[in-house]
Amino acid sequence: MIYLDNAGTTPMFEGAVEEYKKYACDVFYNPSAGYGEAIKVSSELGAARKVLLDKLGAVKGDVIFTSGATESNNLAIQGSERSGKWEYVFSAGEHPSVNSTANNLLQKGHIVHFVPLGKDGQIDYNKLEKVLNEKTRLISLIHVSNETGAINDIKRVSSIRDRLAPKALLHVDGVQAFCKIPFSVEDLGADLYTISAHKFHGPKGVGALYVKNRNGLKNIVFGGGQESGLRSGTENVAGIMAMKWAVQHIDTKANLAKVQSLKKAFLNELEGDCRIKALEFGSPYIISLSFMGVKGETLMRAVENEVIIGTGSACSTRYAGNRILEQLIPHDLITSSVRVSFNAYLTEEDVVRAGQVLKCAFKNLLEKV
Ligand code: PMP
Repeated sequence: MIYLDNAGTTPMFEGAVEEYKKYACDVFYNPSAGYGEAIKVSSELGAARKVLLDKLGAVKGDVIFTSGATESNNLAIQGSERSGKWEYVFSAGEHPSVNSTANNLLQKGHIVHFVPLGKDGQIDYNKLEKVLNEKTRLISLIHVSNETGAINDIKRVSSIRDRLAPKALLHVDGVQAFCKIPFSVEDLGADLYTISAHKFHGPKGVGALYVKNRNGLKNIVFGGGQESGLRSGTENVAGIMAMKWAVQHIDTKANLAKVQSLKKAFLNELEGDCRIKALEFGSPYIISLSFMGVKGETLMRAVENEVIIGTGSACSTRYAGNRILEQLIPHDLITSSVRVSFNAYLTEEDVVRAGQVLKCAFKNLLEKV
């Protein structure tokens, strides 16, 4: 079986599983306890923070461990909320964990702007400029779209922010970018950056929020004061150590080059049929494909014994009105679309075979229509 839904989740590295086991079974102490073994675990967490900060290219700031990107996004947004006449800015292409939190701010009576996407799948930078002002408290923007692979130019956004909304924090949902495309938070100008371990071969249920300046953020979970008071609750030590292992064993640049060539080999296989449209928006890790004349879900189910492909964000319905694709492509392309997402450990043989299976299933389904 060839797995091509890596934007949904990825298989854990064997080494990360071993590391998980070590910290779940042998070195299982609560890092907040006062005896020597526990203090050692606490310093291991400190080392993991350092590894993440280095990979993020941060020269200052902190890493707050969380239960994953949904929580990191909630902490970034709700933690930035202030009373009074502040404004909040999001793109119309955000993951539901950001979009729903934005809607919650709206329901509470805040001024919230949703900036539409351009045809390239990126935020419309001109429209962004129009909504920013002195009262903007937060701009929250996805780095790489989990639906389309479009890459937002975060550096451009941070320079627009510096010019028009100097008091605003910039939060970036980097789930589909971290360990996949090279960047540094310093260079991007991000104040807050979300990551999730299960998208880069770590475990599910663990992630982090990079926080440039802790003073800008308030906690949304109350308790024992772990994670500098920003996220109470005993840390998921095994998960964090496995996440660290994964980060240390990913060569982002080499993987990106490999995935570029996998994508090329895969698309070569589908070339020549004008009813198959590949929507390439940026990151080679994620492509949206339309198989015109066949419902995406029907195709996905037809091939699933041999090839697993996605139907977009697991948290959204791709068919009944996809909030993001609707802004970019016509309706008939949306209903016939699937999401194919790669990891760097696939082989060319895998992706060529996957292309053949998809082509063949598509042909068979068209004959039945
Ligand atoms: N943001 C993006 C861009 C995502 O792709 C995902 C996962 N689909 C999330 C947030 C949520 O991540 P998690 O599963 O860690 O809560």
